[in-house]
Amino acid sequence: MIISNRMKNLHPYVPGEQPKDRVYIKLNANENPYAPSPKVQETVIDFVKNHPEKMGVYPDPDSNELHAAIAEMINKTGGVLCRAQVSSDGSVTPSPQDKIPFTVTPDMIYSGNGSDEVLSFVFYAFFDSSTKFVMPEFTYSFYPVYAGFYNIPMDTIPLKSDWSLDTETMLAHSAENKGGIIFANPNAPTGIGLTRNQVREMLEKASPQEIFIVDEAYVDFGGESCIPLLQDFKNLVVVRTFSKSLCGAGQRLGYIVANPELVNYVTTVKNSVNHFPIDALAQVSGTAACKDPAYYVDCSKKVVEEREKFYNFLQANGFYVLKSETNFLFATKEGLPGEELYRKVKEKGLLIRHFNTPGIENFVRITIGSPEQMSELKKAFEQIIAEL
Ligand SMILES: *Cc1c(COP(=O)(O)O)cnc(C)c1O
Repeated sequence: MIISNRMKNLHPYVPGEQPKDRVYIKLNANENPYAPSPKVQETVIDFVKNHPEKMGVYPDPDSNELHAAIAEMINKTGGVLCRAQVSSDGSVTPSPQDKIPFTVTPDMIYSGNGSDEVLSFVFYAFFDSSTKFVMPEFTYSFYPVYAGFYNIPMDTIPLKSDWSLDTETMLAHSAENKGGIIFANPNAPTGIGLTRNQVREMLEKASPQEIFIVDEAYVDFGGESCIPLLQDFKNLVVVRTFSKSLCGAGQRLGYIVANPELVNYVTTVKNSVNHFPIDALAQVSGTAACKDPAYYVDCSKKVVEEREKFYNFLQANGFYVLKSETNFLFATKEGLPGEELYRKVKEKGLLIRHFNTPGIENFVRITIGSPEQMSELKKAFEQIIAEL
């Protein structure tokens, strides 16, 4: 064969479907139902219209403005949008629970082409083919893909019976492997998070030689951010994205917050693959987004409100639903297999996510959309249940 042996280890991620045959209400990829802030729209139009010459030159290789804007947004929001407070003059402050006890600085940020790419470089920088890394059995299904890509052995730890992370076993294995730990917090597809104190306890028990990668893709919808722990733990990398709470999945922008030394390692990986960062347009639109946190605080609060309503609806209709700190719900109903529910919902013009993975195959994952979208989904569910 003409392909490399390496190729045989590749098992690419299968994204939530994006069908072209019919216009569906998409509640299957945890995208945000709201468009980016009007300020982002204005900035992008201004950039293309009034500074077209900037499309012809290489972008700032260090994304300085963007990193400054990301750091500032985190300081203003405490890293959890749905709890941040917006005062009448539009200024944003963290809720007391989320206040960061130091100032996040731009040298603590690395950004890339979606957190998927960022995660890939993080895997390359911190995990090795000679040592196993620990991850939960059910978590973001891209982690095993990177493991195959970089040939890094995995040590998969089952969840506890309440679907939360088994932190004790994860720690014990990590201590033995000396490789490190990755998990999403809140976790996906369960929606359940660890508190910051729980993560702190893990870090206190672990050796400073073990790297902790905490993927906070969903934390803005109600989890607790681990950014405040960066003060005490130099072996922590927090990964975040614009795709969910910043309404930016189409623009592909993700980042890490970590000690500058770790940021430099990830930058070195990136510079060994592609010496330019995200494109100029993503830099300006990302910067504009960070400068309008009040808009995204509002979007996040709306999503959380809809989530709680749909949670109650599912419970009232006999579903077993996990309590979520994210923009999705993970639910199952006896007598209604996940695959069947997914298919019937699709026939009615809506997409939700079903995973054909043993152990969670009876569940569906429902992204929280706008009130209008959720009301359509509710109607579909009601009809399906009535026909059972
Ligand atoms: C959506 C998601 C990502 C990927 O985000 P992108 O920035 O769009 O690449 C990463 N981690 C988790 C847990 C996610 O759910």
